[in-house]
Amino acid sequence: MSTLHKYGVKACVQPCQTLVRHSGAHRERKQHKNRRFSCNATGANSDEGAAIIDGKAIAQTVREEIGVEVASLKASTGKVPGLAVVLVGGRKDSETYVRSKKKGCEEAGIQSFGTDLPEDVTEEELLKVVADYNADPSVHGILVQLPLPDHINEENVLNAISIEKDVDGFHPLNMGLLAQRGREPFFVPCTPKGCVELLERSGIEISGKTAVVIGRSNIVGMPANLLLQRRDATVTVVHSRTPNAKEVTQQADIVIVACGRAEMVRGDWIKPGAAVIDVGINAVDDATKKRGYRLVGDACFDEIKPIAGAITPVPGGVGPMTIAMLLQNTLEGFKRTVSA
Ligand code: NAP
Repeated sequence: MSTLHKYGVKACVQPCQTLVRHSGAHRERKQHKNRRFSCNATGANSDEGAAIIDGKAIAQTVREEIGVEVASLKASTGKVPGLAVVLVGGRKDSETYVRSKKKGCEEAGIQSFGTDLPEDVTEEELLKVVADYNADPSVHGILVQLPLPDHINEENVLNAISIEKDVDGFHPLNMGLLAQRGREPFFVPCTPKGCVELLERSGIEISGKTAVVIGRSNIVGMPANLLLQRRDATVTVVHSRTPNAKEVTQQADIVIVACGRAEMVRGDWIKPGAAVIDVGINAVDDATKKRGYRLVGDACFDEIKPIAGAITPVPGGVGPMTIAMLLQNTLEGFKRTVSA
């Protein structure tokens, strides 16, 4: 069964457990396991302020589920999923992401393969590494960490990854399949997939709802729009040339924000009770912090919290889901090979 079909019929696996409702200074963890959370988008009121969608806890649950499935498949097939991560150059942020991805693999029982290439590697050499992983049957997912150095054509490299191992979901064929009705991509990009997973696991209804996606990048905004449409939301995409972004956003039951502008979406952009998924990660100067900065989203959490029905924090919202979805994609790729 494809990932998307599975989503279409899947019930909320761990409803509500990971939502934390804030009421003034009082924080209470609600363990209402058997009730689906609903914001105004699905009928409940938001007098107490937004429920916090705890992405860290949901991602942990997903990773545990993957670990269990990997162990069971290992027992039945003698094989495990494999993820190859290719890193070019020595960017500190990229190295950190790659380390976390490898650690995530280890914890879930997924075998990780890594190739670290120097900054001055040629495109041809990089393409050869990709081709070797394409041909390796123990590798079920290939990820080339972006961004690549300027002398390498990113498009050529992403296009070279086999669509059956394209766990980032960035290959144009996978994107095209995602965009077409009745077709199924092999993989869906991890960050937008994580956004939808957060909504679904929080019991937030998508079908029939009005959604606004702020941002239209190939890796987040555009696929987020397609995923919401696939779940029968009516979606509007807001971008840098949208003249009335605030007024458009005010109509939405669900808002996914991915514009890369620190705290751009304010409290008065949000319809009371709406669900807000904040993809943004921005470092802003903060002299009160030891490291001199703090991380904020693309939405102003403090202003939105009293108004929305549910909101993801930054950090601890969408971020942890991205790696969880990468592991899930690798597992999906593996399952296709064992069932083939
Ligand atoms: P991006 O490629 O820079 O795209 C930003 C999008 O926002 C563009 O479509 C742009 O519109 C739109 N935009 C910019 N300014 C705007 C404005 N004033 N009003 C409305 N729309 C505006 O960014 P991205 O890669 O999609 O990332 C978006 C955010 O998500 C960033 O904060 C990034 O750090 C974060 N992110 C997080 C994760 C994660 O794992 N949590 C993963 C990826 C990205 P145009 O198309 O018109 O230029």
